[in-house]
Amino acid sequence: MFWSKTLIPTLRDDPGEAEIPSHKLMLRAGLLRKLSSGLYTFLPLGFKALKKVELIVREEMDKAGAMEVLMPALQPREIWETSDRYKTMGASMFRLKDRQQRDMVLGPTHEEVITELVSHELNSYKQLPKTFYQIQTKFRDEIRPRFGLMRAKEFIMKDAYSFDIDINAADASYKAMYDAYVRIFERCGLRTKVVEADTGAIGGKWSHEFMVLADTGEDGIVECTKCEYAANLERAERAIPSPIYFPDSEKAIEEVATPGMKIVDEVSGFFKCDPKRIIKTIIYLIDGNPAAVCVSSDRDINEHKLARILEAQTVVLADAGTILKSTSAEVGYAGPVGLKIPVYADLGLRDCKGMISGANKNDTHLINVCAGRDFQPAQFIDIGTVKENDLCPRCSEQLREKRGIEVGHVFKLGTKYSEKFNAIYLDAQGQKNTIVMGCYGIGVTRTLQSIIEQSFDENGIIWPLSVAPYQVVIDVLDPKVEKCMSVGLSLMNDLEKKGIDVILDDRDERPGVKFKDADLVGFPIRVVVGARNIDAGKIEIKLRKEKKADLVDVVNAVETIYNICKT
Ligand code: ATP
Ligand code: MG
Repeated sequence: MFWSKTLIPTLRDDPGEAEIPSHKLMLRAGLLRKLSSGLYTFLPLGFKALKKVELIVREEMDKAGAMEVLMPALQPREIWETSDRYKTMGASMFRLKDRQQRDMVLGPTHEEVITELVSHELNSYKQLPKTFYQIQTKFRDEIRPRFGLMRAKEFIMKDAYSFDIDINAADASYKAMYDAYVRIFERCGLRTKVVEADTGAIGGKWSHEFMVLADTGEDGIVECTKCEYAANLERAERAIPSPIYFPDSEKAIEEVATPGMKIVDEVSGFFKCDPKRIIKTIIYLIDGNPAAVCVSSDRDINEHKLARILEAQTVVLADAGTILKSTSAEVGYAGPVGLKIPVYADLGLRDCKGMISGANKNDTHLINVCAGRDFQPAQFIDIGTVKENDLCPRCSEQLREKRGIEVGHVFKLGTKYSEKFNAIYLDAQGQKNTIVMGCYGIGVTRTLQSIIEQSFDENGIIWPLSVAPYQVVIDVLDPKVEKCMSVGLSLMNDLEKKGIDVILDDRDERPGVKFKDADLVGFPIRVVVGARNIDAGKIEIKLRKEKKADLVDVVNAVETIYNICKT
């Protein structure tokens, strides 16, 4: 390919719309252009890199025994009613009507379509197991589309779905996908961390996320400093330390006037105490019913864990009216003592003594509060948000916090969808059984951008060879000099014959401009063809990730470059 023939609109300056390095670089290197919020056009170079990521995904899915299909993005409302997700997907699902006024949606994911299909097409144990996948466009009306391809309204996902006779067989299908994901991200040159994850709206019992470690990641994760434990903060657990116990604290409970002191800082300032000593009590509506949730004030309540443990569909903060009715006080004075609504307390509060809490009375707090003696929650459950330096739930060593970008997610779904769609098979005895499912997603476009987020320097992108739009750029310094151009051309032809993607910079630009652009786009191998070196029978080869260039005999150039590409 000739640089002058394609479109690589590089930009010198950071575009104002971009916040994180990979987004800036995708725009500056001419890979991507924005149409409107969350919607992007792939320019030729961006599209070439995207196809390479897709190819890796496809090869590994095929190798793992999954079969490629293609399902409609436009789907009828009915299948979403069958799964009960027409409502629960909420505003994130794009909804529209066809000309007959039938309700349609643009698929945010495809559990419904595939399970509907399988309910008709697979009905005997002899046809199982099966795993299907597709690489296809998904639509999600994200609240805050941002960071370019990272959180878009329209993006490309590889989604796969496995169908098995029982849980053991489903575990094997899950493992095959998990292992394929490890290989895919390795081949993309990514450093990922696999973490235990929340199952969220998709449901199911168990899931893992593949996280690209990056400071700009939207997800918080914790990992153990000693063992293998790692989890998304939405799910993370901690070893519960010994009970919170303050000396001199088994005195009787007492009311103290705290006029206007509603927030933790004010209360801890007034009592001159560690926030840990204050019981934070939040009133929630859990599936519509008021309940009080308590945690010591040095940490937050994790609503994901709360919903999962209580098996609740919805967990929302209660309104001021509900709070007044449930606690007989304004917002800010709730506490667990004497409440009539159910109280759920974090495990960290078990056996706590000498605590301070709201008194369920305006402008008043209680001191000397002891769990068990003064209040008995319906349940002590693990609902506190995990923090850096908490202890590992497996080995009790310290946990540390990291940021990550979720590029892949694997779920054990069980029979959640197969039951609803009546996806049944007959076993060897002719008995009816429900098919056991798994589902597996990779954000292909998000993966592409994550590769850049993990691999760049002050001059631009540093593509790994496996996904670079072109592995080699040939900078012909003076395209008008015949001997230079002919070396450049024959090098390009010979490398292309060997299956290597090459771009030849034939623009009539100063060397400085060509080098800057080559670095910005980040081609892994740069070849410089200059008149003086050609006279000595040499060309220059430089790797993007290294500072030093090597002079190589023209006659050995193809082999040298080929060998670098194959390593
Ligand atoms: P997130 O928590 O980031 O919103 P999710 O958990 O809703 O993602 P899944 O339903 O698990 O996403 O989708 C599978 C994969 O699709 C994700 O792991 C992610 O890589 C990608 N993905 C999800 N939403 C988007 C989006 N808005 N833009 C780009 N990629 C996305
Ligand atoms: Mg996910």
